[in-house]
Amino acid sequence: MSNIQFDSENNSKSFELPGARPHYNPDRPGQVEHIFLDLELDIPNKSFHGTCTISLNPVRSNIDKLTLDAVDLEINSVKINDTEQTFDYDGNELNIYLQPVTTTGQQIKVAIAYNSNNPQRGIYFIAPDKHYPDKATQVWTQGEDEDSRYWFPCFDYPGQLSTSEIRVKVPHKFIAISNGELIHTEENENDKIYHWMQKQVHPTYLMTLAVGKFAEIQDEWNGIPVTYYVEKKRQEDARRTMGKTPQMIEFFSQEFGYKYPYPKYAQVCVSDFIFGGMENTSTTLLTDRCLLDEKAALDNYNAESLVAHELAHQWFGDLIVIKHWSHAWIKEGMATYSEVLWTEHEYGQDDSAYYLLKEARSYIAEDKGRYRRPIVTNVYREAIELYDRHLYEKGGCVYHMIKTELGAELFTKAIHNFVQSNAHKTVETIDLLRAIEQATGRNLLFLFDQYVFRGGHPDYKVNYAWDGNNKLAKITVTQIIPKNDKKSDVSKELFDLKIPIAFGYIKDEKPELINFSVRVHEQEQTFYFPLSEKPKFISFDVGNNYLKTVKLEYPLAELKAQLQFDPDPVSRIYAAEALVKKGGLEVVKALSKSLIDEPFWGVRVEVAKQLGKIKLDQVFDGLALGLQDQDARVRRAVVEALTQIKTNESYKLLKSVVKNGDASYYVEAAAVYGIGDIAAANVNSDEKPIEKKAIKLLKWVLKEKQGWNEVLRCGAISGLSKMKTSETALNLILKYTVPGVAQPLRLNAIRVLGTISTAQSPVNLERILQRLTELSRETFFLTQVSVVAALSQMQTAGAIAILQSLADQTPDGRVRRRAEEAVQKVQKNIGGDKAVKQLRDEMDKMKKENQELRSRLENLEAKAKGT
Ligand SMILES: [Zn+2]
Repeated sequence: MSNIQFDSENNSKSFELPGARPHYNPDRPGQVEHIFLDLELDIPNKSFHGTCTISLNPVRSNIDKLTLDAVDLEINSVKINDTEQTFDYDGNELNIYLQPVTTTGQQIKVAIAYNSNNPQRGIYFIAPDKHYPDKATQVWTQGEDEDSRYWFPCFDYPGQLSTSEIRVKVPHKFIAISNGELIHTEENENDKIYHWMQKQVHPTYLMTLAVGKFAEIQDEWNGIPVTYYVEKKRQEDARRTMGKTPQMIEFFSQEFGYKYPYPKYAQVCVSDFIFGGMENTSTTLLTDRCLLDEKAALDNYNAESLVAHELAHQWFGDLIVIKHWSHAWIKEGMATYSEVLWTEHEYGQDDSAYYLLKEARSYIAEDKGRYRRPIVTNVYREAIELYDRHLYEKGGCVYHMIKTELGAELFTKAIHNFVQSNAHKTVETIDLLRAIEQATGRNLLFLFDQYVFRGGHPDYKVNYAWDGNNKLAKITVTQIIPKNDKKSDVSKELFDLKIPIAFGYIKDEKPELINFSVRVHEQEQTFYFPLSEKPKFISFDVGNNYLKTVKLEYPLAELKAQLQFDPDPVSRIYAAEALVKKGGLEVVKALSKSLIDEPFWGVRVEVAKQLGKIKLDQVFDGLALGLQDQDARVRRAVVEALTQIKTNESYKLLKSVVKNGDASYYVEAAAVYGIGDIAAANVNSDEKPIEKKAIKLLKWVLKEKQGWNEVLRCGAISGLSKMKTSETALNLILKYTVPGVAQPLRLNAIRVLGTISTAQSPVNLERILQRLTELSRETFFLTQVSVVAALSQMQTAGAIAILQSLADQTPDGRVRRRAEEAVQKVQKNIGGDKAVKQLRDEMDKMKKENQELRSRLENLEAKAKGT
């Protein structure tokens, strides 16, 4: 599954919310052998009826009761071999009193006739309405994690694997897609029956059904049909977005040492999907928002990653199934790491190293801002809470560290062994450790203990000094432990790892490394390395394979050399970060040079970002040159950095980007946003006219531009939201929160109501709360997510009441959790923080004046040095 990204900024520190408790799989009355759903859909009435037949092989004799998960269904009858069974049903669990009782080894077939009217979970009926008359009519399902029970009665946990079969009657013009092979179709004047059979065992959460008037695009891999289903106008976008699927199937078949195991691979793009994608067995569902137009394909690689992620799950998740949600990292971590593996295969080592760095950062932001937890834990309120950045991104980093420990060759051997020996079975984390040990002899429990079974990662500080008399490099490594940790616990927080350290020399303009390896396990350790001459730069954790944060405290010259010469792009990025901490004109020069000369786009992106953090006017010229970069991703970063500068020149430059356009939507959108952000920052210094001009420009964008998935107009709305004192800006934003506005634009307008709310008049604040109250009553998942995001930014007690009622009423565990976390955040916002905020505004103003002074001073100094 691929999750919707939430903002990660929050203050609650415990993963376990009140009510969290340990979760276990239930006792097993027997082995489910087969599930057969025979359904008839009534699409206009958003309802369906049919029979669910479960073939069960009892584990023992004399079982007289079965308890099935079944939520909000109407149960009409329960039969075993035509014998009516008595049952009771409370809307949550279906208890069947078996007559006769079970006999070991004698299979029973439990047939449950049921219907469902207007279901709220599990199966979703999408249809046009008065606000969105052009919306597609579709029906699709989403089982993970515990929602299959909302569309059929079942033992709804991943520990039970069985074959499955879905026969479904739909109106003639619709296509119905499900797991496995299409074994039969039948047509009459009005209806069509599709009969699908999944012959390999899988869990209930991977059973799916997708119905729509789709275009069907056929591709293939090794004779296996690969099909893309999209709404009819999107055929070209489908090929553009999913066209690499056959190459990916080939790649992952090799990588995992197991040929793609199913008779087909279908990807269905559906509307209003509540995840990015879902890896139902042989039938992945994807959000239709991933479909790229030609211009978006220029610098959007997310869609390709999404396709790779869900495909990798066909092995990790579907072929090998997790026994319990607490081990979901085995599949989500690998699916996330597969994005890295595919990136390396398709775009090279630099791209994959940078990809991994971004995953690490995503996890670190959650660890820092939200909570820290062990990756494996069974203590939660709802399993869906586990689907966070620890599970995905940190899980991916753990797989990379396994590869680092084993080396590429043994890693492949271990993964092949794991997949081959657990195919069509369920696994827990221990099974991965055992497969590694069996294939390679290596016991990686020490790594899992540190990174999987407990929370956190090492935060290193590295100091370097050169002792010229003795020709010794002195490296001091400190593990930074948060201050609030009790002294007695410090030893438990420390990491014990072998870290490679290299010293770099430059021969004929090329780097040469001398490698060492040290065991870092104490809070502070100093290492001495005898070297024949003074190194030009130092590379800590060569390859940057260990999940960590690192502060490099090296002299300026070594950092500059590292930025230029270290062969590892991530090391060059760390050097850029460390340089900025030093500040000054020389740093600006080094980074500006790197922005032009650096061969890898990812480092140029990071260098631009770092330049934007330096509060010196001289930064502008360096960044301005970066706007000519061939790579759109760099131009976007440059525009974002220019936005940080907030001067008249940067405003003018961004305005020209908006007016002239760019080959990339994202570059344009960033410039549109920047206009608003810079104008808003300059309002305080009596330059009101600039805000007026900016609003005029953004209004023009809202009227004339649109962009793929509304990215341009979203940029304008976000830009307007920075004008926190402007009523005109607020009125514009509110206009886009009403039903009928294109969904991505509307969701963004809702989200930024929080941003703009913080300096509005009391009357306008009331208007915002009023609108958010209305919006919070909408049941659509993505609207609720946006409402929570908005409210969490607010600094008024009024937000808390809305959040609380949303938490109480939402059917979605993700919204519930986020709403509760937001309540805590708003409470903090309105505590002492209001006064702090006013102070901060004052300080920002002073800083700006200071920056002008400092810039003049730096210029004078530079001149003085030059003479
Ligand atoms: Zn996933």
